[in-house]
Amino acid sequence: MIYFDHSATTQPSRAAAEAAARAISECWGNPSSTHRAGMSARALLDQSRTAVALSLGVRRPEEGRIIFTSCGTEADQLAIFGAVYAKKRRPGDKILTTDSEHPAVEEAMKRLETEGFTVCRIPTKGGALDFDFIRANAEGVILASLMLVNNEHGALYDVRRAFAEIRAASPAAVTHTDAVQAMGKTDFTPAKLGADMLSVSAHKIGALKGTGALFVSADTLRAKKLIPIQPGGGQEDGMRSGTENLPGIAAFGAAAAEMKSHLRENIAAVTALRNQITETLTAAVPDIRVNAPAAGVPHVLSLSVPGVRSEVMLNHLSARDICISAGSACSARAHHRSGAMLAFGITEKDADCTVRVSISHTNTSAEAAALCEGIIEGAARLRK
Ligand code: PLP
Repeated sequence: MIYFDHSATTQPSRAAAEAAARAISECWGNPSSTHRAGMSARALLDQSRTAVALSLGVRRPEEGRIIFTSCGTEADQLAIFGAVYAKKRRPGDKILTTDSEHPAVEEAMKRLETEGFTVCRIPTKGGALDFDFIRANAEGVILASLMLVNNEHGALYDVRRAFAEIRAASPAAVTHTDAVQAMGKTDFTPAKLGADMLSVSAHKIGALKGTGALFVSADTLRAKKLIPIQPGGGQEDGMRSGTENLPGIAAFGAAAAEMKSHLRENIAAVTALRNQITETLTAAVPDIRVNAPAAGVPHVLSLSVPGVRSEVMLNHLSARDICISAGSACSARAHHRSGAMLAFGITEKDADCTVRVSISHTNTSAEAAALCEGIIEGAARLRK
């Protein structure tokens, strides 16, 4: 099998799988118990928390806390609902987000709208935040939730500048970024971005499904700008109750450390593969469109092959045992047109013919060549 769908999920790395296995067989105690079994589980939990924090450039506990959750989606929901419900509601309060968020954020925003909140969506045409729009809407903001890397076209949004401008006009605004597609793939820290909160997900970086995390700055916690959405036994500093998924968390810590220590070489390897793929395809299929944003990450590559619907190309490649996706994995199952690609500025017709290739440092040049061969053959045979 040739797998180029790493933005959907990744194969667990050996280190992650071994860490999970050790947690299952040796550290199966409840981290909240005070006896020896509990203490060894607690030690592994703390060690994994530190590894995830360090991988995000959070070196000192005084900077903030990592709160483990069940996935990236839950981290987003905790940040969004937790920040909005922590505030006393005033007329004119506004929430800022983008028009191309993952459903984990967009669906939370829709729910807040049904509750009467005003949500303003920043246009992201061409894969860049519209700063005129931000300037015009920066007052009265209680929460700004802007993704760092878009999951469908790989744009790297300038959230640092956006947060700075929003904060200048709305000093009390809480800032959150969904960094699920950025972790381990590009260099950032919450402090450099000016993010009070930042969401990540383990299965996107070579760990297991069912574990995510939310970084929350110490200032946000101290000022009580976040309330728990899942109350209960008080785990995770009272911010996310429920006994922690220690095997998943141990794997997350191992994968995070691995990705951090190989970041530069991994980016170089992925960039070389991306260049190989785009050069081969643009030479062989002259009308293929590379939906590349002005600033983007190398591991997400969006392509439109006019006249070949995404699902037709996907099936053709699947028959060759090559895995890619149409837009994002979530929208593929829901069979609806990708909002992010329309917001990017491509036509509905092109959106229907768009596929996403997401590359990992674990892919090889021979795999990239086979992928290109499959797409070139599809473009020649499948056009309507
Ligand atoms: N945010 C972004 C940008 C994503 O790409 C994804 C998953 O594809 C998520 C959030 C949700 O993460 P999880 O699958 O861990 O819930």
